[in-house]
Amino acid sequence: MSLDPRALSAARLGVFGGTFDPVHNGHLHVALTALRALDLDHIVFIPARQSPHKESGAQATGAERLEMLRLAIESDERLAKMASIWDFELQAEGPSYTVRTLEELSDLRSCGGVEGSMFFLMGSDQFDGLPRWKDVERVFRLCHPCVVLRSGNGTPELENLRGVISDGLLHKLAESFLTPDPVDLAATELRQQIGSAALGSAWIGQPESVAVFIQTNGLYRV
Ligand code: ATP
Repeated sequence: MSLDPRALSAARLGVFGGTFDPVHNGHLHVALTALRALDLDHIVFIPARQSPHKESGAQATGAERLEMLRLAIESDERLAKMASIWDFELQAEGPSYTVRTLEELSDLRSCGGVEGSMFFLMGSDQFDGLPRWKDVERVFRLCHPCVVLRSGNGTPELENLRGVISDGLLHKLAESFLTPDPVDLAATELRQQIGSAALGSAWIGQPESVAVFIQTNGLYRV
């Protein structure tokens, strides 16, 4: 699947990477919060083949995660108009390094003559792992950060990064912090709930079409 033309031409593009195993309302909340707060023209969701920061791989296949993302985007009127998916990382070999994906995205946009800005969306739980990211400083030269508060992860954790990443990046991250009411959802817990057949509570965390897809295809059963 090639990059959606809207992602290619957007003056203000949100870039949202993740395993999305499965996509849930917490992810949609990040995307919708960023759309509003940053006045984005478009958001591109980029599912990872294998996150370099997670020990185990995704449980659902790339094709299943893509389809769940497609259903989730369709389920929201705003995202249906303003979001797309790019499978670049699913097609690439090896771990999905954000810097490589952003370089490719930036090259494609430059070749198309776009002089826009990119914003990398992420939950505040990502702070702890930032020093381990490949070329983290370059990631945030290619893209402005947009950090959305995740429950249990407040601003103070940013201080732990002082001296570990550059002061410039620390400042950028602090400035980018969005603090809407957090949505307390995580894919790990949803998978566990689905696996242990506590279906009622798991379905609350997702668009119905995604829940039906999981059920119909027997995903995350132990
Ligand atoms: P897992 O529980 O399997 O680690 P996850 O729910 O964290 O999964 P990912 O696909 O790993 O989902 O996350 C992709 C991005 O979305 C990350 O930047 C993560 O911080 C962010 N994110 C996920 N859930 C939330 C949430 N409830 N609130 C804010 N950000 C979130």
